[in-house]
Amino acid sequence: MEREEIIRLSAVELGKRIAAGEVTSVEATKAYLDQIGAVEKDIHAYITIDTEGALKQAEECDARIKAGELKGPLAGVPVAIKDNMCIEGQLTTCASKILSNFKPTYTATAVQAMKDAGVVVLGKTNMDEFAMGSTSETSYFGPTKNPRDLTRVPGGSSGGSAAAVAANECAAALGSDTGGSIRQPAGFCGVTGIKPTYGRVSRYGLIAYGSSLDQIGPLAKDVTDCAAILEIISTQDAKDSTSARLSEGSEEAETDFTSALVNNVKGMKIGVPRDYFLEGIDPEVKEKVLAAAEKFRALGAEVEEFDLGMVEYAIPAYYIIACAEASSNLERFDGVKYGYRTESYTDLHNMYKKTRSEGFGAEVKRRIMLGSFVLSSGYYDAYYVKALRVKALIKQAFDQAFEKYDVILGPVAPTTALPIGESLSDPIKMYLGDIYTVSVNLAGLPGISIPCGEDKDGLPVGLQLLGQTFAEKKIIRAAYTYEQNRE
Ligand code: GLN
Repeated sequence: MEREEIIRLSAVELGKRIAAGEVTSVEATKAYLDQIGAVEKDIHAYITIDTEGALKQAEECDARIKAGELKGPLAGVPVAIKDNMCIEGQLTTCASKILSNFKPTYTATAVQAMKDAGVVVLGKTNMDEFAMGSTSETSYFGPTKNPRDLTRVPGGSSGGSAAAVAANECAAALGSDTGGSIRQPAGFCGVTGIKPTYGRVSRYGLIAYGSSLDQIGPLAKDVTDCAAILEIISTQDAKDSTSARLSEGSEEAETDFTSALVNNVKGMKIGVPRDYFLEGIDPEVKEKVLAAAEKFRALGAEVEEFDLGMVEYAIPAYYIIACAEASSNLERFDGVKYGYRTESYTDLHNMYKKTRSEGFGAEVKRRIMLGSFVLSSGYYDAYYVKALRVKALIKQAFDQAFEKYDVILGPVAPTTALPIGESLSDPIKMYLGDIYTVSVNLAGLPGISIPCGEDKDGLPVGLQLLGQTFAEKKIIRAAYTYEQNRE
């Protein structure tokens, strides 16, 4: 098979061709490495490209496939991993200077599950520093560009993973989502991504940003690939105390997500929150998303508008909680045990101070300060505790909605991909762009982002479908049906 043909296949399609012996894993890996060689200088989707390691993994995969030891939909398929997931012995930087020399001694559970399924890891993708951002511009290693328009951001924080998929620099990728970081870059780059229910995928080995919000999930070319990857990475993990323990045999515990790839939404109840289409949304985004809602109606779903409520409180509550958790999580980067340490210092305190001053970028420092402030005595009740109460009310609003609806439909972001440079100068504006994604993390829900058309500049518009906790199958089924029937 020709390189062009290989890199255009979806991950599952490529897996089928590898299994059928039409192409080897080594050939597929070479095809992707060639593509990386051709486009990476423009896109900058990767922080680390592991050429030698990838070819070695591919050779091993081919041998094991030949011997009949390695089976499964993604055996031999080349993928990319966001650089906040640990891989033993491999540089894992979180796009930060403070971890620019960090090689973990263990591998994240989700990545290990992918490796056990026989994927080839091509490299680690670029991101906002410590996953804090919505544009991938806060990376210590410089920004990633949107493959659909190199003057635009790819979204963030998993912008490298989304761009790598969109530019055919990998067959699929893993990202992480604390407040939209899988769904929004998928939307900006025209690919598909799932943020799983909190607790569905192990966070072990994912460098923490906001521990009560973080989830790992797939970014891929289509819904089928996302379902196949989610099926692989969904595990109960004793190494993560927040990994969900679902009762065996219950519907929620079933992780055969590919069985939900059913082209039928007849009778499915879909709610469209009116409050998602008020101020601030770009008219073209609104039009495309509402057209998708009409499409669902035409396909036999019961589509209805409703008032969700609490929408305006999501961003303040999210930024208080995420920053509070981040300020605590990032305490460990002090230059003592691992990572960057300042070159010269006078005493221990001076070493901490200089290491952290030099090692963290401006956005990360801003959030550590915000988080330390809302957790400080005197402000704790006024901000942090209040934000937790708002979080509970947001969850309640969604619970009420899911009593009536199987799926909630809305936009991923208020706009399409923004020009590079715009958000760095105005962080509040960047935070406001997370309006449709952050409440989903506060409530712990699963969400999928799929393309639903383009604006007049040819930039992709993202459609978001949300489900009740552990109801990934419903959103996969809805998204798959839409994908099969969209023009
Ligand atoms: N943009 C949001 C933030 O900056 C979400 C990031 C994420 O999901 N990691 O916090």
